[in-house]
Amino acid sequence: MKKSTIARSSGNSSRRKRVLFDKDANPSVLQGKTLAVIGYGSQGHAHALNLRDSGNDVIIGLKPDSKSIDIAMQNGFTVLDVEDAVRNADIILVATPDMVQPDLYRQEIKSALKPGSTLVFSHGLSIHFGLIKPRSDINVVMVAPKGPGHLVRRLYEEGKGIPSLIAVAQGGRKARQIALAWAHGIGATRAGVIETSFKEETETDLFGEQAVLCGGLTALATAGFETLVEAGYAPEMAYFECLHELKLIIDLMYEKGISGMRFSISETAKWGDVETGPKIIDRATRRRMERVLKDIQSGKFVRGWVREYKAGLPNYHRKLQAGTMHQLEVTGARLRGLMPWMPKRSIKGPQAAYAGAGGKN
Ligand code: NDP
Ligand code: MG
Repeated sequence: MKKSTIARSSGNSSRRKRVLFDKDANPSVLQGKTLAVIGYGSQGHAHALNLRDSGNDVIIGLKPDSKSIDIAMQNGFTVLDVEDAVRNADIILVATPDMVQPDLYRQEIKSALKPGSTLVFSHGLSIHFGLIKPRSDINVVMVAPKGPGHLVRRLYEEGKGIPSLIAVAQGGRKARQIALAWAHGIGATRAGVIETSFKEETETDLFGEQAVLCGGLTALATAGFETLVEAGYAPEMAYFECLHELKLIIDLMYEKGISGMRFSISETAKWGDVETGPKIIDRATRRRMERVLKDIQSGKFVRGWVREYKAGLPNYHRKLQAGTMHQLEVTGARLRGLMPWMPKRSIKGPQAAYAGAGGKN
């Protein structure tokens, strides 16, 4: 595929983005309003608890048979069914899995929305790809933390925050103020908030999780592990080299960038890095990355995901199940079990209560 077939982002990608902090937000625009959080999973619980701790009035909307009801009630929230929560609220975060949102909007949210109310999303997929066509009299904004929900909560409790994106699809300046106040309420403006569009957030988020963060990284670690084991090396050695040490390297990259990480590794590792890295991720890989991006931009990826979801997720479950049985995972579980400091369950809070059928990134 030629480079030119990739749609150029209409976002202001080459311009330096302004970063917004606490002083740029006006949290009082949420005062006297009722905020509803629909769904109490990874993002939902974090937004709800942080916003309440920031002094706001928050209620939760869940389906009657939801596993999350008990946890939300234990956390002291009033839990209503989705329609009632929406009817009673001025600003509503839709924090259910993306693939649940379109039917939920049509069946329980749309007609219950008060005129002039605001819908908040923490990922732009449903709006950007037209799976939800929101009523024209409501504001539609996004507040998208660039991290998993349990960290949104944990960092807030530590007086910190997760950098986040905001965007406005409908409602102009007033809607922007609400999004920024919401970002303030979850602690995001402590870390920095960047303004974007639903399109830019959705396409970069999907690309990042597919090509680099989740898909790329797990495939790289697995391929490295398999290469060593198939060449006769011990799986334990392969695990340490290809997965365990990833965290140590990534922590350095997170804190100091790639050059800062390279400062800490040996000369031999540095030479192997710059000499061999480009042979692994080469021009052919780049071309496949471009194809992945094109399929995201054209909506092909999302159409496939909607089809898979409607079919009852057969491939999703099969592929994830195969992942859990891989020798890399079995070896890793055993080795981590021998390290007493390793958290036995790395996610605290309501996440423990569900297996996670939907996307978590
Ligand atoms: P989760 O899967 O963690 O939680 C979903 C919640 O929605 C659960 O409480 C679930 O209840 C509830 N729910 C499911 N179906 C319905 C329904 N029909 N009516 C009411 N509630 C329902 O979702 P995430 O937090 O992962 O994702 C929410 C949104 O946040 C998505 O748009 C996602 O893209 C976005 N996002 C997620 C991130 C993350 O960290 N996970 C990061 C950034 C954005 P039950 O327990 O009964 O299933
Ligand atoms: Mg995502």
